[in-house]
Amino acid sequence: MKKLCIILLGPPGAGKGTQAKKIAKTYGIPHIESGRIFREIAKGDSELSKTVKKCIEQGGLVPDEIVNRIIKERLLSEECRKGCILDGYPRTMSQVAALDSIIGEIGGKILVISLKINKNKIIERNINRLICPVCGAIYNLKTNPPRDDLKCDDCGSQLERRVDDEKIEVLRRRIETYEQYTEPIIKHYEERGVVKMVDASQSPEKIFEEIKKVIDQATL
Ligand code: AMP
Repeated sequence: MKKLCIILLGPPGAGKGTQAKKIAKTYGIPHIESGRIFREIAKGDSELSKTVKKCIEQGGLVPDEIVNRIIKERLLSEECRKGCILDGYPRTMSQVAALDSIIGEIGGKILVISLKINKNKIIERNINRLICPVCGAIYNLKTNPPRDDLKCDDCGSQLERRVDDEKIEVLRRRIETYEQYTEPIIKHYEERGVVKMVDASQSPEKIFEEIKKVIDQATL
């Protein structure tokens, strides 16, 4: 079988991070989370860090040439020899072109899982989201709170809100950015017959059950 590259698409708060972690664990493939990669880069004080930090804080996108270079390096690395789960990439048609060319080069197969959810639910999920800055675990104050106050269940670190979840106008901009730049990607892959839709308004467990069926079908 060709190596499988799973692309998880969905608006902010659809549950991509939570599901990608479950997929990575179950299928033993690396979770490549572009948002987390850029949040780490934004902590530095290089020119690149400053550019990335600004994009994140404003709810905009990091320039394609930066994103494509960083993700290409990961995709061609040894850790992705069996495949990978992409969470947050590709986000623009230029990123799709770069990814399609890499996948062609390595002889991979693409499966796109599109998480569908309505806007009201998205806003509620983002407002209640907490993340662990150390291990990347994701919590929701209403539906999946940490056991001990605001500490990570897995590593004990103090949980944080994402800077781009704090302001409603930044959140709205991220949703608009998704609609403008990322939704056309679903169309592109639909034309190639590789998209499976999953209802993301369900519980994380139910969503994962459906995702598993889709992946198992694709790898038969
Ligand atoms: P996320 O955690 O996926 O919501 O990403 C957080 C932020 O990182 C986004 O709002 C963008 O500023 C940046 N980012 C993540 N992935 C990409 C990407 N593929 N292209 C451009 N910017 C990205």
